[in-house]
This record gives sequence, C-alpha cells and structure tokens, in this order.
Amino acid sequence: MKTGTIGTAALLAMLTVSAFAENADGIQSFPLRDCEVVCLQDTSASMPQGLFADAEASGFRQTDDSYEASVNVFLIRKEGKAMLVDAGNDPSRGSLREKLQKAGIRPADISNIFITHLHPDHVGGLLWEGKALFPNATLHIAREELEAWKKDNGRSGLAKYLSPYSQRTHAFEYEKALPGGLIPLKRGGHTPGHTIFRLPLAEGNEAIFVGDIAHAVALQFPYPTFCARFDKAPQEAVASRIQTLQMDGILFGAHFPFPGAAQGGAVLSSAPRWSFDYRRYPVPNQKND
Ligand SMILES: [Zn+2]
Repeated sequence: MKTGTIGTAALLAMLTVSAFAENADGIQSFPLRDCEVVCLQDTSASMPQGLFADAEASGFRQTDDSYEASVNVFLIRKEGKAMLVDAGNDPSRGSLREKLQKAGIRPADISNIFITHLHPDHVGGLLWEGKALFPNATLHIAREELEAWKKDNGRSGLAKYLSPYSQRTHAFEYEKALPGGLIPLKRGGHTPGHTIFRLPLAEGNEAIFVGDIAHAVALQFPYPTFCARFDKAPQEAVASRIQTLQMDGILFGAHFPFPGAAQGGAVLSSAPRWSFDYRRYPVPNQKND
C-alpha cells in the first residue's frame, strides 16, 4: 500500500462512527476528513444468475439463484455543498426523496448532480410529480454519453427525466475537474460514455464513484471478465471493470450491496462475507502468474 492511503481497518472504523444509526433506513454515512459521503439506498435489488450470459456460456455457475445488489445514490457533503452522484429510479419505484429527507437534506439544497450514465435506474429519481425534483441543481453528464443517448432509440424514453433540466445541464469533457473537485474518467462499455468520478480526499486517498462498473460484486470482483447482459459493449466493459477495480481508493458502486463501498478489491462492509479480494482469484482465460 502506498503511503498516505487509508487502510481497510481505518475505513471499517469509520463505518462504526457513522453519523446515522448503522445502516438505519438504508442510509449509511462515511465521514471522511474533508467531506462526507452518504450512501442512500434507493431500492433493494438482486441480480439473477441468468443475467450473466458469459458466465453461463462458460459453464461456470457460482449460484443457481441470484446475487445481492442494490440501487445506491451517493450524497457528497463538502465545503457547505450537497451534491449527488446519480439519482436512482423513478419515484414510483425509488425512495430518493424520502432518503434525503431522513438525511436532513432538502431537494433545493442539492447544487450539483453527477450522472454516471443514462439509464432509468440512474436518472429516474430526478423527477417528482412530472417536474424537476431538484430546483437548483446543475446536471453534469459526459458529452459523449449525451451524444450516444441522443442516437439511441432504445433510451429515448429517458427524455422526460432530463428535459426539465435542459437549461442547466452541463455536458462535460473527461478528465476536466468538476465542482466539488470531482474528476470524471471514461470507463465505457456498459454504455458508450459511462463515467466514473474520482474525488481526491484529504487523507491522500480518493473516493471513486464507479457507477455500473459491476452489477454483482460477489461474481465480478473475483471474475471481472463476466458481464451482465446490460453491458452494451462487453469487451470494453471488461477492460473498464478491471482498470477500475485496480484503482487505489474507496470505490462506491451504484449496485454494490448496501452500503455500496469497497476498497481497491476488498469490499468494505462489516459483513465478513464481502471481505474477499478479487486479486486472489485467477481471471478466466488469462494467464495466472
Ligand atoms: Zn444501473
């Protein structure tokens, strides 16, 4: 481990000093030195084994059933600002508004919303009763993702979530810093412009919001070459997944089991069953040295 990085033990200790009761109501705070990340569970979820066609085709079956997952939205509180990474499902299914209320945040307090990609479980919660839930928020979406979405008839239904924000949508370029100090990086494959966001921390470490880089951590951390059917370009998705899981930081995943955090390969949770390291396992079809 590099000097200045924060160890898993220290992070686990942070979990126990949560500002909220532990895992209460699907809200988990990660108090970091110069900011706070709060995981808000929008919806509970599981990913059926059958979703992972590559695993099925290889004859590999880890389970007959399904993998624990979640739909998580992340709230970042930094320098007096309240910002979100993604917005979860349509309010008919999701609970973002209610979770924010429980966390003491009014929708009007949200200044910026960073979108990892344009899928309904990431932008649905932008709407409330047909209007923008967040009256003061700027929406940040990668220009490449926006352009790809405009050409994709299969995703045209998402316009209703985005159009109320059309006057305050910022189409960003990768690797250029965004408000709050977030740095977007391209990790395509799941969608053409799928984005992860790095947030450098005072600890010398960084938080990395990884979106849909993995849909079933129990399967895809040990076997990152397996894709969910949702991954539009599987080869690119695999490369993006491996590259991201190797990053030295706290990973926050939209579909990681609640509370949605992992550290550089070992998933961070008080439950020991998640504390495995994907690097211990050989990657299928790759040389194991
Ligand atoms: Zn998703």
